[in-house]
Amino acid sequence: SVSIDGIDKNYGATSVLRSVSLSIADGEFLTLLGPSGCGKSTLLRILAGLEVQDAGSLSIGERAVDNLRPKRRDVAMVFQSYALYPHMTVASNMGLPLRMRRLSTFQRLPLLGRLLPGTARIAAEIDAEVTRTAKSLGIGHLLARKPGQLSGGQRQRVAVGRAMVRHPAVFLMDEPLSNLDAKLRVQMRAEIKELHQRLGATFVYVTHDQAEAMTLSDRVAVMLDGELLQVAPPQEIYADPDDRRVAEFIGSPK
Ligand code: ATP
Ligand code: MG
Repeated sequence: SVSIDGIDKNYGATSVLRSVSLSIADGEFLTLLGPSGCGKSTLLRILAGLEVQDAGSLSIGERAVDNLRPKRRDVAMVFQSYALYPHMTVASNMGLPLRMRRLSTFQRLPLLGRLLPGTARIAAEIDAEVTRTAKSLGIGHLLARKPGQLSGGQRQRVAVGRAMVRHPAVFLMDEPLSNLDAKLRVQMRAEIKELHQRLGATFVYVTHDQAEAMTLSDRVAVMLDGELLQVAPPQEIYADPDDRRVAEFIGSPK
């Protein structure tokens, strides 16, 4: 489970998040939905530990994570821009989190690493995990390519694969489909839903696309100007918006 309790965030004099509180159950698909600039990415980055809140506390899996570095939080983030390394192959990009976790600094060096005991075995295990994950995402044939030689949808799968190899309890996805064309976006939506069902992990998903939020989510958290206005299952948000601002954003009259 994820518990977000009274989070405030300011950038200088600008208040970007205002006492945001939210509990997310294990295995839930929760979507943060709101217009550009409302603070969605900031909240996700705070959950990931890439940014620090000014007030409030967070726990993930019953454990307070406020003082834990990103790597130790049992979360993996998929960025809107995918953030793949252009000079590395798909296999290296996907295996990177495992190499960082499982190999020492010296073992990661190409020449010295080979001489150190255990390196070959760990490297083979990482390769096997990367290959298995890539196949499950339909990109098993692309492992030797570089990101520049892939389509947008293929790059997106690599970014998801790189998060998957860590087997995190919580996936944080920041508008992972927004760079894709409309047709692929709808196709990948189904794949993300299938992935969530297959993994049984908790997903915190960010989008400003209402259709995406409505089809994917167990619950939707509507966000505006740094505040959560309503957190409810999609049908309820449509049928019974809590607030005039939610109704306006969703476009249904109240
Ligand atoms: P989008 O849908 O466009 O990605 P968002 O909901 O993800 O928007 P955030 O990126 O969280 O929005 O930004 C929230 C607000 O905080 C915006 O007004 C933004 O300009 C501001 N902001 C974000 N990062 C910084 C920063 N490093 N310094 C100052 N202001 C920032
Ligand atoms: Mg954003």
